[in-house]
Amino acid sequence: MKSLSKINLFDFDQEHLKNYLCYAGEKPYRAAQIINWLHQRGVTNFDQMTNLSLKLRTYLAENTDNILPEIIDEQISNDGTRKFLFKLKDGEMVETVYIPERNRATLCISSQIGCPLNCQFCATATLGFKRNLTTAEIIGQLWQVIKKMENGGFAKDRIITNVVMMGMGEPLLNLDNVIRSLNLMMDDNAYGLSKYRVTVSSAGITPNLYKLRQHSNCSLAISLHAPNDELRSKIMPVNRKYPLKGLIIACKDFFAKEKRRAVTFEYVMLKDVNDSQKHAKELVKLLSQMRSKVNLIPFNSFPGCNYEPSTADAIEKFRAILIKAGINTIVRKARGDDIAGACGQLAAEVGD
Ligand code: SAH
Repeated sequence: MKSLSKINLFDFDQEHLKNYLCYAGEKPYRAAQIINWLHQRGVTNFDQMTNLSLKLRTYLAENTDNILPEIIDEQISNDGTRKFLFKLKDGEMVETVYIPERNRATLCISSQIGCPLNCQFCATATLGFKRNLTTAEIIGQLWQVIKKMENGGFAKDRIITNVVMMGMGEPLLNLDNVIRSLNLMMDDNAYGLSKYRVTVSSAGITPNLYKLRQHSNCSLAISLHAPNDELRSKIMPVNRKYPLKGLIIACKDFFAKEKRRAVTFEYVMLKDVNDSQKHAKELVKLLSQMRSKVNLIPFNSFPGCNYEPSTADAIEKFRAILIKAGINTIVRKARGDDIAGACGQLAAEVGD
């Protein structure tokens, strides 16, 4: 039996793999080759890695145990969205959502099992927090869905063009593993996605935004959901620790050196809570200091929640105020809500 303490190569981005290989007495350029086999070609059998020496292949076969999370269930929505349930090596579960659109497809992946932030309107919060996902478990969601697309032939013409870290968990509370995963997503030897097509979504762990920016060039979405501290602290307890003032400055700084990029602000529309025209005007003022985009998200309900979705009319009036102020604003279409795969509905329960 293989021991549990063996290295998992899926836990490494290229830099970390280089270090590991140097330690094993190998040349650093081998890292790109191995990453290419594992991630771009989806090959895990060392015998097939013919450009590596037999000595290195034997070493890797003996010293690594390259476990990935396994897909154990798949639900398909009427709109083509697919929700995958993954089982991890300790039996925990996590969900991933594949969202096809006309000429692209987005994979929404998870970063933690459950979530510690306790946002009042989110189903994942009801699970509490169990643990962080490893790099192998984060990147493994992408690896396995691609594999399934290749083998099962679904959506052949709409391969994954975008990845969003908008599944279960708070990515900025699992920063090291998230950064390694982002590096792999954007590595030309692995998945080769551009910085515009890999997005981290955060409820706003302000100091970690600076760290993220230091180590990654990814795109950023912030779950704002309220235009003032009083309301935001009520619906998102994390705001008590990291209030709006510092968060907004960090967002402004995030793309300060790339004038054409903008942070996306997500704003879930909760009836009679944050959806008035007064709130819209307050939001305009809050965002006036920087380039920004706003995604208004119609609230997706889940069992046991205390909120209701805003009316279409309220959403439209809210949007009109932002647009008039020159803020690029879209209303996010709910996708996969019939299979509990839409924003805020992920709770990783095995269906009957
Ligand atoms: N923790 C990160 C990643 C989760 S992303 C974050 O907060 O950004 C999931 C997005 O869906 C977030 O913007 C979240 O606030 C939003 N969301 C949560 N519950 C929702 C619900 N019930 N309906 C619509 N959107 C919701």
